[in-house]
Amino acid sequence: MPAQILDGSKIREQIFAELKQEIPRLMAQGVRPGLAAVLVGENPASQLYVKNKIAACEELGMASWMHTPPADVSTDCMLQLVRDLNKDDNVDGILIQLPLPSQINSKWVLEAVDPVKDVDGFHPVNLGKLVSNRPGLVACTPAGCMELLRRYNIPIEGANAVVLGRSDIVGKPMALLLMHANATVTICHSKTRDLPELVRRADIVVAAMGKAGFVRADWIRAGAAVIDVGTNKVTDAEEAETLLKSFPQRLEKFRTKGNVLIGDVHPDALFIAGALTPVPGGVGPMTITMLMSNTVKSARLRRAKANVAPG
Ligand code: NAP
Repeated sequence: MPAQILDGSKIREQIFAELKQEIPRLMAQGVRPGLAAVLVGENPASQLYVKNKIAACEELGMASWMHTPPADVSTDCMLQLVRDLNKDDNVDGILIQLPLPSQINSKWVLEAVDPVKDVDGFHPVNLGKLVSNRPGLVACTPAGCMELLRRYNIPIEGANAVVLGRSDIVGKPMALLLMHANATVTICHSKTRDLPELVRRADIVVAAMGKAGFVRADWIRAGAAVIDVGTNKVTDAEEAETLLKSFPQRLEKFRTKGNVLIGDVHPDALFIAGALTPVPGGVGPMTITMLMSNTVKSARLRRAKANVAPG
């Protein structure tokens, strides 16, 4: 039997419905949650991401602002912009769309964001809070993966979880979240030995490496939950044919379009896993969802009176 699909679009709808209940309660107190997005230059992928984030704010009735400094903006100008946004009480969340052009010191800019408005959860203060399991803003993609596990009632406590990847924005926070939820966590990276053996022991596999179909289906333990964070655009026909040989309809689409999105886990894992996030439509929709949720959380914590609580 194919795995249960952990449907990110469905959970996004659930969380949006919850936010649509909470936002009017905040607005009744004069608090309209607001997100300021900073998009430097004209990178088309970044433009699309920011557009989608602003559209999500609009759908929820939140305020949003878009700042678009030119591609040659200096670090000083970026720091000034961030300071202004920090001071603006209407701004609950500040989003610096990455990557920034090379002349900008990205670290300085990200660290200048007030941690209480750091809705991406990238600030060292928020990372520190996560390490010590204190309340703070958590990076959106790993927070979204946890929501998927929880809302589909995947048992986490006592589970063996294997996280593939140790980046600051996905792998590390993911491993910490799973550990705080009482999983026994193994973190793997490019120097890990015997990867297939480690993955075979996992009840929960989180793959965040950026390598299309790298985790073979026969590494997955029967019945395991697979969270596939990878989003890799495959354009090579031979690679697509190999990865999608069990999925003729997707292959047909690839032949028409010339590309296909593939996760880090081989699509055939669908026939072995107990539950699995599809790519696309699994983790992807959760990232923007958690950005919205973090912005509302920041508004609630910064500005609401004590009696407003999530629904
Ligand atoms: P990243 O910064 O490039 O990190 C990749 C990690 O994978 C590194 O820790 C690396 O190990 C590890 N790795 C690479 N090759 C490996 C191998 N052969 N065996 C074991 N580990 C290996 O990537 P990221 O930003 O975390 O993103 C990972 C993937 O998630 C990408 O495909 C990205 O597009 C996707 N993503 C999706 C979303 C979403 O919303 N769906 C959001 C964020 C990211 P080392 O540390 O040893 O180099």
